Amino acid sequence: MNYTFMKDARHAPAVSYYDYIIVGGGTAGCPLAATLSERFRVLLLERGGSPYDDERIGDMTRFADTLADTSAASPAQRFVSEDGVINSRPRVLGGGSCINAGFYTRASDDYVRDAGWDLGQATAAYRWVEAVVAFQPELGPWQAALQQGLIESGIAPDNGFTFEHIQGTKVGGSIFDADGRRHTAADLLRYAKADGIDVLLRARVAKILFNIRAGRRPVAHGVVFHDSQGKMHKAYLNTRHGNEVILSAGAMGSPQLLMLSGVGPADHLRSFGITLVHDQSAVGQGMYDNPMNAVYVPSPSPVEVSLIQVVGITDAGTYIEGASGANWSARRSGSSAVDHHPRNFGMFSPQTGQLATVPPKQRTPEAIARAAEAMSQLNDTAFRGGFILEKIVGPLSTGHLRLRNRNPDDNPSVTFNYFAHPEDLRRCVAGLSVIERVIQSRPSRTSRSPTSPSRRCST
Ligand SMILES: Cc1cc2nc3c(=O)[nH]c(=O)nc-3n(C[C@H](O)[C@H](O)[C@H](O)COP(=O)(O)OP(=O)(O)OC[C@H]3O[C@@H](n4cnc5c(N)ncnc54)[C@H](O)[C@@H]3O)c2cc1C
Repeated sequence: MNYTFMKDARHAPAVSYYDYIIVGGGTAGCPLAATLSERFRVLLLERGGSPYDDERIGDMTRFADTLADTSAASPAQRFVSEDGVINSRPRVLGGGSCINAGFYTRASDDYVRDAGWDLGQATAAYRWVEAVVAFQPELGPWQAALQQGLIESGIAPDNGFTFEHIQGTKVGGSIFDADGRRHTAADLLRYAKADGIDVLLRARVAKILFNIRAGRRPVAHGVVFHDSQGKMHKAYLNTRHGNEVILSAGAMGSPQLLMLSGVGPADHLRSFGITLVHDQSAVGQGMYDNPMNAVYVPSPSPVEVSLIQVVGITDAGTYIEGASGANWSARRSGSSAVDHHPRNFGMFSPQTGQLATVPPKQRTPEAIARAAEAMSQLNDTAFRGGFILEKIVGPLSTGHLRLRNRNPDDNPSVTFNYFAHPEDLRRCVAGLSVIERVIQSRPSRTSRSPTSPSRRCST
């Protein structure tokens, strides 16, 4: 993609005017900008670069390379929650859809109704998205065994392939096509009306500007952003009723930016010398992250490379999924950005922050290096196999986000309080019991037998 309306923020004017200013060109920001550009003048501001300039993003087998890259230019910005769990947030046009595991699904009808959306309009929007970024995956033997194992373990009915979110076992959508190429939210900008939109890359928004009048609620009317050379730019809304600044900077970036702009808990903002615009104690509250627990299932023979394709949606409030293959074997990346790292073991490698053998708060860079070194001593055959993992439906354990400093490029401090709510732990245990049943099921055992058909599958 070489969008005519996309350019580096260095080339932006010092001051500009739009009907809509969208902060954060991620999974939500890109389709929003494309849609609004049909009728309005839209500015989309993204702090990261173009996904089309980074070959790691498009290639499924290099899924872990971006997550393992901790450089300042990486499309994945590493952060460590106060719980000690290592995690990543996107920093690239297309946002999380450029670094995630690519599973695509529609929401359940109940979710749509509870959100107050019109079911017909939601379905039309799904189709608009699916025409560009969602594909039916062709299952290899490992994913097919997972599908059958789930069904035999009682995660019924067998829903076959569907984009719908329904209980039972299904093959879901994927943003990876049949050639393993990733399609991201940035691709949805192809719907944009070229003369209705400007997309600025490496545009770091530092502040939302508010009009403050006595007796009235503050109203956002513009933003301040910096380009990669540190030069300041300002963008303002045209005077028209209904024009808006839209904040879609992600689960961490949005509350962080609100606080930096003066909207948040008054005492907290004052402690950083931030001028208060609106005292709102809810900003930064209710933060949650869906904890993932995975079981590695070794295979005597190579299995296909796959990310999330099959999912079991249980009645006990858990999701069971799987990923397999050589993307966690001894694959060295050709990218200079990650070449200084030792071998990268893929999705569950220590370099991506996965370090199950070490308690969270002890997952230091040194511990990561030690684990990577230990893994590099293993024979490649140790990495043949796949992970079956469980997640819980909408965690009930929540935490909070606080500023660490006034720099929008730095990670704020975030606490998720994983498993603080006993129901989350109960669901986790129930999910792991399903995984045990799947591993012991006939299809799964057959796929691990040395004479299984998966032997024929090359990596
Ligand atoms: C490793 C991983 C695997 C995942 N797997 C899946 C999966 O398989 N399926 C699935 O559905 N979901 C998955 N997710 C979650 C999914 O990617 C996110 O829920 C989704 O991307 C969130 O979209 P968003 O638009 O809210 O935010 P994001 O996509 O995070 O977009 C926010 C954007 O705002 C930008 N931004 C932030 N601050 C500023 C600023 N100050 N100035 C300018 N720009 C800014 C960021 O750079 C980013 O591009 C995964 C996530 C991760 C990290």
